[in-house]
Parts: sequence; structure tokens; C-alpha cells
Amino acid sequence: MSKNLVVGAGFSGAVIAFLLAEKLNEKVTVIDKKEHIAGNCFDYRDANGIMIHKYGPHIFHTESEKVWKFLKQFTDFNTYMHKVYGIIDGIETHIPFNFNTLYDVFPHTLAKRLEEKLLAKFEYNSKVPILEFQKQDDDDLKFLANYIYEKIFLHYTTKQWGLNPDEIDSAVTARVPVYLSRDDRYFQDKYQGIPLEGYTKIFEKMLSHKNIKLKLKTDFKNINSSKYDRIFFTGSIDEFFNYDLGQLQYRSVNFKFETYNKPYYQSSVSVNYPCNYDFTRVHEYKYFLDDKSDKTVIAKEYSELFELGKNDRYYPIPNDKNTELYAKYLEKAQKLNNVYFLGRLGDYKYYNMDKAILRAIELFEKIFDIRLD
Ligand code: FAD
Ligand code: UDP
Repeated sequence: MSKNLVVGAGFSGAVIAFLLAEKLNEKVTVIDKKEHIAGNCFDYRDANGIMIHKYGPHIFHTESEKVWKFLKQFTDFNTYMHKVYGIIDGIETHIPFNFNTLYDVFPHTLAKRLEEKLLAKFEYNSKVPILEFQKQDDDDLKFLANYIYEKIFLHYTTKQWGLNPDEIDSAVTARVPVYLSRDDRYFQDKYQGIPLEGYTKIFEKMLSHKNIKLKLKTDFKNINSSKYDRIFFTGSIDEFFNYDLGQLQYRSVNFKFETYNKPYYQSSVSVNYPCNYDFTRVHEYKYFLDDKSDKTVIAKEYSELFELGKNDRYYPIPNDKNTELYAKYLEKAQKLNNVYFLGRLGDYKYYNMDKAILRAIELFEKIFDIRLD
């Protein structure tokens, strides 16, 4: 029987470990350098009984029936659909920018004129990334595009990435397109929600499999990996190769938590501050599972540069330089036998949870030529 090592107990590692253990009945050792499982999805109930997402709020959403079905083995979800508000010129309004935002921030007559022009040009319910939306001939629509770019994207993106919207892969700002509709939801996926008992519970269930041995506070660099027949590596691919081609860049995040002696702090889970302050957004956790407490806990999200040994990797930075460097590491990776890279760090891809899970499932299917329904 093959011996498997999985590096990382986030979704990518936990899913591949579970599949090896369950579908192949093979032994798997999972290590993680953190003191807990679940990677960036780690959550816990604090002293107030509020479920806190330690590394930022995580909303599950997917179009993939396969991923949804897979996760439902381990948890039920509520029907939470994420809505984000933003403070624009002192007005609390809807993000992504949509027709409701239009009427919140402009006088009615101007909003009406802009709405008519938008409907003449775009199909109702379509979604247009801001960098495309800027290509307008009409003066009114040009004004609107500049307004949205300046008030929602420019300063937020500079805070988040240290780059202008046009210095980063266009797919990044395209995650939050302009909506030509009154749909205020941040995601439109068929399946959305928050796991009823939290994310960590999902990982506990996956990793408690009889064939899985878990070792926390264990860094790959400190173990003897030669005794394993296969290695699944969900850490950063440049770290695996001792940075011999140079370092891949990441953004890190610093969440500053605050507790208030009042039931609620803001109107919803997430309020963005595109133009004000140094933080990008503020999250209030008790809304997710409707936790009852006289107190409330919020986190202000400050983005910062990732520096080795100082903070953690949160976001790969998708630009030309990093894409080129990643391609070179991938080339080296492909020459290795029985070492597989996956995950947000291993693949250096801006995966949401569902994409990380799907990648792990598909890698398993490919290696072992097994099709999971
Ligand atoms: P990770 O969760 O990062 O897990 C990798 C694990 O590997 C870590 O536990 C790490 O400690 C371990 N590791 C790394 N190197 C080593 C080593 N050398 N030795 C041992 N262990 C090691 N997705 C959504 O779908 N919805 C959301 O709302 C959402 N919100 C997010 C908000 C923020 C602020 C961030 C940063 C991400 C968000 N995501 C969201 C994305 C989500 O967190 C990722 O898709 C998911 O965590 C990826 O899982 P992973 O296992 O690939 O990586
Ligand atoms: N963005 C922005 N203003 C906002 C929200 C998003 O400029 O109010 C841009 C920003 O560049 C951000 C990207 O859109 O990094 C993707 O946003 P998303 O909320 O999907 O990022 P995540 O939740 O992954 O941090």
C-alpha cells in the first residue's frame, strides 16, 4: 500500500486526503504548520458564542453540483446570500454597483437618465467588468464609468494590492462587475450558504477518517519526506523549491478585531470603505449564523505586502511577472515523480473555496483514473 503525505490541512489538502483514505483505502499523513486544521477557512466560537472566521469572512458559493454534493456529506448549509454595502460619498449603498446604487448616489432625474442610457446599450441583467465598462462614447456614461472607477475601484484596489486596477490581471476587478439589474447579491451562484456548524467542523469530519493521521505544528521543511511514495503539496510552490528561481509575491492581510458592548455594529456582514480610511472593509460575524449575544465582534481588514517570516500568504498577485515566474516553477514541478501541487498556494491561483475543492477532486480523478459522481 502506498504511503501518502499531504502538506496542508486547508480545503485542498483535506479533500485530497479524504479521497485517498476513503476511495483508495490508503494511509495518509496530513501535516500542517499551523496549530489548527482548516487553513484559511478556520473558524471558532468565541467567549460570546459568536462564530469568528479567523482569516476573514468565508461565504460558500458554487455553481458546481459536484462540489456542493461532495460538501453536503459533511455539513448542512443555511441559505445566507451575501450582500455587501459600501460607503460612497458618505452614503451607505450597494456593491457591486447596480441600479439600486445608481438611485442611492445620484439625484433621481440624473439616475433615471443614466438608467435609460444603460438599458439602451446593455442587456438587462448583464454584468460588465469595470475595465470594459470604461469604454464608453456617450458623455453621461463616460461620467458614470469614471465615477464608479474612482469611487469604488481605484482606491480600494490600491489599498488591497498596492497596484492600480490596470496593473493587475483584469480578472481581479472582474470579480465585482457592474450589474445591469437590481440584484444586490455579491454572488449569483446556484448554491450559496454558511455551514451550520462552521467550516472547522467540516474539516474535523474529513480528517477524522481512520486512514488519516494528522500532525499539526509540523512544517514540511522539518520532516523526512523521502519515506512517502506520493506527496501532495498545498503550500507555496516557490517554498517547495527553496525559492531557487526567486520568490512569488503575495498579499497578506491583517485583521484587527474589536468587541463592542452592543448587539450590532453595522447593517450587515461586510461594509466596504473604498475611499476612506486605510482598511478596505469591516466585517461583523454574528450575522452569518444569526448568533445571539449582547456583544458583537467586528474585524477591520488591512491589506499588506507578504514578507517571509513576518506574516502569512493570503492572495497570489496575478500579474505578468508572477505568472511568468509561476510557469517556471510549474515546469520544474512537472519533472518530479509523484509530487503533486494543488491549492491556492500550490497552484498560485486566486481560487475561491469551491474551485480549490474542485481542483482537489479533479486531480484525484486524473491521477487514479476514477470518476466521482
Ligand atoms: P489554505 O487554506 O491556505 O491552506 C493551505 C495550508 O497549508 C495552510 O493551513 C498552511 O498552514 C499549510 N502549509 C503551507 N505551507 C506548509 C508547509 N511548508 N508545511 C506545512 N503546512 C503548510 N473563498 C470563498 O469561496 N468564499 C469566500 O468568501 C472567501 N473569502 C476569503 C477571504 C479571504 C480574506 C481570503 C484570504 C480568502 C478567501 N477565500 C474565500 C478563499 C479561500 O480561503 C481559499 O479558496 C481556500 O482557503 C483555499 O484552500 P487551500 O487549502 O488551497 O489553502
Ligand atoms: N474591488 C474594489 N472595490 C470594492 C470591491 C472590490 O475595487 O468595493 C476590487 C478589488 O480590486 C478587489 C477585487 O475587486 O481586490 C475583487 O474583490 P473581491 O471582493 O472578490 O475580493 P476578495 O473577497 O477575494 O478579497
